[in-house]
Amino acid sequence: KEYSKEEILQYAEANNVRYVRLQFTDLLGIVKNVEIPVDQLPKALNNRMMFDGSSIQGFVRIEESDMYLAPDLSTWLIFPWETPQGKVARLICDVYQPDGTPFPGDPRSVLKRVYARAQDMGFSAFNVGPEPEFFLFKLDEKGKPTQDLNDEGGYFDWAPVDLGENCRRDIVVTLENMGFEIEASHHEVAPGQHEIDFRYANAVEAADNIATFRLVVKTVARQHGLHATFMPKPLYGINGSGMHTHLSLFRDHQNAFYDPDDELGLSETARFFLAGVLEHARGFTAICNPTVNSYKRLVPGYEAPSYIAWSGKNRSPLVRVPAARGQSTRVEVRSPDPSCNPYLAIASLLAAGLDGIERQLELPPPVNRNIYMMTESEKEEAGIRSLPANLSDALDALMRDEVLVEALGHHVLLHFIEAKRIEWNMFRTQVTEWEREQYLTLY
Ligand code: GLN
Ligand code: MG
Ligand code: MG
Ligand code: MG
Repeated sequence: KEYSKEEILQYAEANNVRYVRLQFTDLLGIVKNVEIPVDQLPKALNNRMMFDGSSIQGFVRIEESDMYLAPDLSTWLIFPWETPQGKVARLICDVYQPDGTPFPGDPRSVLKRVYARAQDMGFSAFNVGPEPEFFLFKLDEKGKPTQDLNDEGGYFDWAPVDLGENCRRDIVVTLENMGFEIEASHHEVAPGQHEIDFRYANAVEAADNIATFRLVVKTVARQHGLHATFMPKPLYGINGSGMHTHLSLFRDHQNAFYDPDDELGLSETARFFLAGVLEHARGFTAICNPTVNSYKRLVPGYEAPSYIAWSGKNRSPLVRVPAARGQSTRVEVRSPDPSCNPYLAIASLLAAGLDGIERQLELPPPVNRNIYMMTESEKEEAGIRSLPANLSDALDALMRDEVLVEALGHHVLLHFIEAKRIEWNMFRTQVTEWEREQYLTLY
């Protein structure tokens, strides 16, 4: 909803809002905020709130650290929980440089830029519907997360096995109070694992929603004495947490992926878009699966993809085309995980699809067999490549992908790659318990 500045000031007053959080995300997708007392709100609404960007991951160097926050008025929201000091509201902000231009290191502005290209190509919406999964762990007496899961439940289980139910329902109620339309919530396959699906939204709003969703899940879990984590693979030997992402382009309120005359009900636009997604899959993996831990999820045996293929039927490939047609026609990309920066992930998926449309890339045939049962030579014959096996390979693939390099822009790419190379090098030089178990006595 679009609010005017006057309306926001009125709502703040009428609802006893005492503090306002000005929210934005850093390059790694971590939500940052500056909290202001409500009497500073008029100043904030005039984009005059300044902050020092030099301490924010991937933002700027010390000598150019002044940044301005420009609140997006449509994101005004009063948190449903009370604090002893009164209510707290938030506004999601764009980040500007002192000269008034958008800051190129702001992930939200990266997504806006890619989305503007979709608009130039005649599209009126890029609808994104995420299926974020997460684990609930018990807290210890000191309030620190343990490795004990909150329950022993499995896929779609009922209480009392599913002890997460009260917590999950509370999360759902809180989200609904904040204007989310929840489509489903259920226990996932692994013990302690849950999924909550909310309604799709247009590009930037969808990314805002994912950021807010993660915040709410963690906050409400705490209130139940639990720790919610979006870490992609917290435990060896059971499923990890993904964030399947449903995508469709609209043109004048009509789903541009649907064609009733096509044998599969898919338009040319859908086929080109899907071909683009497959073409750039190796490139966007570093963005959609940005941690060293992400690659422990993308392995056979745990319902996560590791091969680049699509299917209308089975769920082992990277992209599935769900059966729904008409306005609900969409593609489901199954590789992203909930540790991604949602702005950059959606921007890179969109850039990949748009490139397919622009270059009219040919869609390879669907793979309706279980890829995990195919031999290496069968896969090679069918042209099925695999996703990068680790963060280092994924970063190489991203740097080689000119379309994504261009879409993300130099500033983001430079800082992202630098931060992730450090992460990779720290990881690869660790000596783990597993190694000592394997080698200490053997050699
Ligand atoms: N947890 C699985 C993954 O890692 C997905 C399971 C499912 O939703 N069917 O992607
Ligand atoms: Mg699901
Ligand atoms: Mg799921
Ligand atoms: Mg799914």
